[in-house]
Amino acid sequence: MNFKPIFNKEKRPILIAGPCSAETEEQVLSTAYGLANQGIDLYRAGIWKPRTRPGAFEGVGVAGLPWLRRVKEETGMKVTTEVATGQHVYECLKYGIDVFWIGARTTVNPFSVQEIADAMAGTDIPVIVKNPVNPDYKLWVGAIERLHKAGLRRIAAIHRGFSTYGDSKYRNVPRWQMAIDLMQEFPGLEVICDISHICGRRDILAETAQKAYDLNFDGLMVEVHSDPDKAWSDASQQITPERFGEMISTLVRRHSTSQDPDFQEQIESFRQQIDEFDDEIIQHIAQRMHLVREIGYVKKDKNVAIFQLERWRALAEACRIRAEKGDLSREFISMFLEAIHQEGISQQERIMNDGMVESTVTGDLWMND
Ligand code: PEP
Ligand code: MN
Repeated sequence: MNFKPIFNKEKRPILIAGPCSAETEEQVLSTAYGLANQGIDLYRAGIWKPRTRPGAFEGVGVAGLPWLRRVKEETGMKVTTEVATGQHVYECLKYGIDVFWIGARTTVNPFSVQEIADAMAGTDIPVIVKNPVNPDYKLWVGAIERLHKAGLRRIAAIHRGFSTYGDSKYRNVPRWQMAIDLMQEFPGLEVICDISHICGRRDILAETAQKAYDLNFDGLMVEVHSDPDKAWSDASQQITPERFGEMISTLVRRHSTSQDPDFQEQIESFRQQIDEFDDEIIQHIAQRMHLVREIGYVKKDKNVAIFQLERWRALAEACRIRAEKGDLSREFISMFLEAIHQEGISQQERIMNDGMVESTVTGDLWMND
């Protein structure tokens, strides 16, 4: 797929800011005036709000479109709103909305995305596609493909994190790797980070914005409200226009790379060492698996179960303590050990059982020989 930038500008980052929802004309305009001199590229406000539970504020609907047109006329900022149906697209076209965005709850539904793509076909309006609520990379790419097939080229993606069940520091866990994969697979596609829906709270917005810059995102989407505590939706994550300005001014935008020969030389030397370590790590894991298979034969001989809870607990705890001394996070080492342990189990299963067995890590089928 080939893409065009959503705006004709070289300067990065792309900044999108504005309230979660358009509530009243006064609120839309006062927030817009607060942002007008802050160099943002696009003013956002949702007028149709897909809410997880009924009863929450579901948006003002078409009544909000003239308010956005006023923002455009009076401040000169371009405006964007969320579209979820073909009808929304037609209404927005009537009011000169500059950019459309597709929300996370819509990206999950190929019928809706197709309807939007069909309604937009023949226009050159930029469209930005949020990731689906669940971490399904193909669904995200599929939505982009549908728009591309409809002839649209000014397409960007928005990373807004993924729904999760249970405790998390984030409202929507970022799973950064999925956005990185998208950047790698489609180098011409602009990828913007919606820090507000990832964080769900104000106190970690700045650090998350810096993280997005460090990962080379093309821009940020931030929910900004003239009176955040009184917002009709997503109050806990919205910030004032002033706070937005302060936050942006503290962020450090680093270069994507440097041609400086010293830099190149240093990096090259470190990378060589890293490659050697990677090689050793793989060799060590292979040797470890060899021992795991030997244990598999011993267990098979005595008809002993593969999974040994006490051993696994002791090993995991010992490794976690060692890992902490080496400045590795518990979270990382747990994931790493679990992957190794699961691979060990599937290798022993291969020894113990006849026929095909499934690798618990990759889902691959092994032929038991
Ligand atoms: C929004 O941007 O206000 C919104 C509803 O976001 P998401 O689709 O990411 O939940
Ligand atoms: Mn919101």
